[in-house]
Order: sequence, then C-alpha cells, then structure tokens
Amino acid sequence: MDYEMFFRQELDGLHKEGRYRVFADLERKAGQFPRATFHGTEGPRDVTVWCSNDYLGMGQNPDVLAAMHGAIDGCGAGAGGTRNISGTNHYHVLLERELAELHGKEAALLFNSGYMSNWASLSTLASRIPGCVVVTDALNHASMIEGIRHSRADKVVFAHNDPDDLRRKLQAIDPRRPKLLAFESVYSMDGDIAPIAAFCDLAEEFGAMTYIDEVHAVGLYGPRGGGVTEREGLSHRLDVIEGTLAKGFGIMGGYIAASAATCDFIRSFASGFIFSTSLPPALAAGALASVRHLKASQTERAGQQDRVAAVRARLDAAGIPHMPNPSHIVPVMVGDPVLCKRISDELLERFDIYVQPINYPTVPRGTERLRITPSPLHADADIEALVGALAAIWGQVGLRRAA
Ligand SMILES: *Cc1c(COP(=O)(O)O)cnc(C)c1O
Repeated sequence: MDYEMFFRQELDGLHKEGRYRVFADLERKAGQFPRATFHGTEGPRDVTVWCSNDYLGMGQNPDVLAAMHGAIDGCGAGAGGTRNISGTNHYHVLLERELAELHGKEAALLFNSGYMSNWASLSTLASRIPGCVVVTDALNHASMIEGIRHSRADKVVFAHNDPDDLRRKLQAIDPRRPKLLAFESVYSMDGDIAPIAAFCDLAEEFGAMTYIDEVHAVGLYGPRGGGVTEREGLSHRLDVIEGTLAKGFGIMGGYIAASAATCDFIRSFASGFIFSTSLPPALAAGALASVRHLKASQTERAGQQDRVAAVRARLDAAGIPHMPNPSHIVPVMVGDPVLCKRISDELLERFDIYVQPINYPTVPRGTERLRITPSPLHADADIEALVGALAAIWGQVGLRRAA
C-alpha cells in the first residue's frame, strides 16, 4: 500500500468539503486577554480572541499565576510518576478535596483532561457494572461516546434533552438491568441546557445511575461555580458530576466528583487513570487557586453574563442571526462550511478578530457556525468591533439578516 498517497487522498477529501482544520498560531499574553499575538504568514500581529474556552479569563488570574509559580519553585516541573507510583503530590490531594466540597460529594478524582475523565469513568462503569445498559443523550460529547463505545456495554441513545423520549427508552429496557444515564448540563455548540431535574426524576423512577458532564458550566454557574447542578440545587441527585479544569477554571485537567465508593472504584479499575503520569503539581496548584477564587468571587460570573447580554443585543440590532439559548455561548449561524471558513478568514485578515469556524463533525452539516464566547474581559469597544465586522462581511457575502 502507498501509505503517503492514502493519507493525502483522505486529507484532500476534507479540503474539498471545506472542513479541513487550520490551527491559528496564537501567542496568548498574560494580563492582556482577550488579546493575543497571531503568527500568520505575514508575520506577527495582535488580534482579539472571541472563541476561547478560557471563559472567565482565569488563565491569567493573578492568584492562579502566583500559585503556579509557587508550586514550580516548591515542587519542580513534573509529578514524577503515576498516582500510584510516587506521583501523588499534596496539591492533587488538596484539589480533590476542594472539588468534592464544591459539588457536595464525598470524594473527587483527578484526570489529565476532561476528555480522559469521561472516557475512563464511563468506560469503567459501563464495562464493570454487570449487564449495564448506557442510556445516552444523542448530542453527548465525543469523549463520552468513545468511553461508552470502549466499554462494549449495550447503549440506548435518546433524543437530545427530551424527557419523553428518555422515558420511552427507559421503559423499553429490562427493569432488572442496571442502567447508566449519561448527559451534559450545558451543551457546548448550541448552548442549551438539559432538563436535569426531569432526568433525575426518570432515573429515580427506573433505578438508573446518573452521570452528568458539567464541563461548560463549572466555574460559570451556581453561587460558588459548582455548575448548573449547584444553581438548581440538584447536585445531590447526580451520582457522578464530571468537570474540567481547562475551561472556566482556565488551566488543564479533568475530574469526577461522586461518592467515596464510586471514586475509589474508578481509581482502582480505570486504566486511563492508573497508567498515566499525574498532572504536574503546578497545574494542580493553579487549579486549586482557581476553584477557590471562583467559589468566593461573583465578579467573573457577573461580568461574563453582562458581556453575553451585550453581545446578543448588539447582534440583534445589526440583524446578525444567532441561536437563542439560556447560556453564555453565542452561536452565530452560517449554515455552510466554505462560507463559515471564509467569514472566519476575513474576520482575521481584515479586522484582526479571531473566531474559529465550527464545521462538521463538531456540529451537523448545514449548521456550520461561528461560536462566540464573550468573557468578562471583552470591552464595549471589542463588541462594537466584532459586530461591525460581522455586519460588513454579512452584507458582502449576501447572508440572510435576522428580522
Ligand atoms: C471540552 C470538553 C470535554 C473535554 O474536556 P478537556 O478538559 O478539554 O479534555 C468534555 N466534555 C465536553 C462537553 C467538552 O466540551
């Protein structure tokens, strides 16, 4: 086989569909977020980032940076091993305690990413609970889908955020079989939020264990940043709450919070937890500072909500169509992969604004979009510049305006 030829042909297919991914070469600048230096073909220049998942700018928070500097100076660079073999640093222990407390759970367990926490936890639970059926939302994240697939457990997919369909699917499963209900709170591409209480009611009625991904909510929602489950007073009804330290908390790493037995079970049986070197102490120390900061401070959450409302109002005034939702995610709908990429390119080249195009398979074909994530650090002038640029491009490419 001509391997090189095969790879090139496959890549050509992506190019033809307009969904070949091009990474923007960015140099983030601490203290200046959402500004970054973009290293393009014509050399470096400053751009405004409008699509970061560092939702609250915690990646440059002074408490976080001081904690990370302190841990590097105190503990050095790496963790030095897996959790079992010399790699459990005191910062990991403190962070797990903090996360358990944040979600009102007995325990928490750290992973090297949110992806790994979903993949390892779901695959371990679904493969090790005898006869388990996983009941999973149709729009769950790739990390959940892959974890469920890897478990080889039976899987039933229910219609996105639809309690009626979930009931039908649960009713059809042999009542004697254990069931694991897996869903997210805030869905990252449409920004909609699951009917968590209704799902918990159904889980209770049918005896299912509940697993929620709060990746796009931790730090952002709830009076202490404990996510939508905290805001709605539902944390105690979820058996497993999964989150990331990489988005609202601004650093890196993933976790689950659950009962002591659940965490101990996954700690003891999950290959993706056991056989991987643990997070560097500095990341754990930084995450600890970030979680503690957002437990006490409302400034970032309030600022973000204010900026989200301001962006939506300006888009409405300019007739730029965006998907309404109850979260902080502002999807500006384009509906064509080539056009979506072109708009993103023009924003960057002509207006020094960076918004990555979101194409298939991240979203369904025909729903290609620009996913805008306003942060508390976007100023009024940034919003004016963004909406002005979008309005200019909208007219030029002949896209539909909203009423
Ligand atoms: C980003 C994401 C993850 C993975 O988290 P990382 O920490 O980035 O690996 C998991 N679930 C959802 C819904 C996500 O959007």
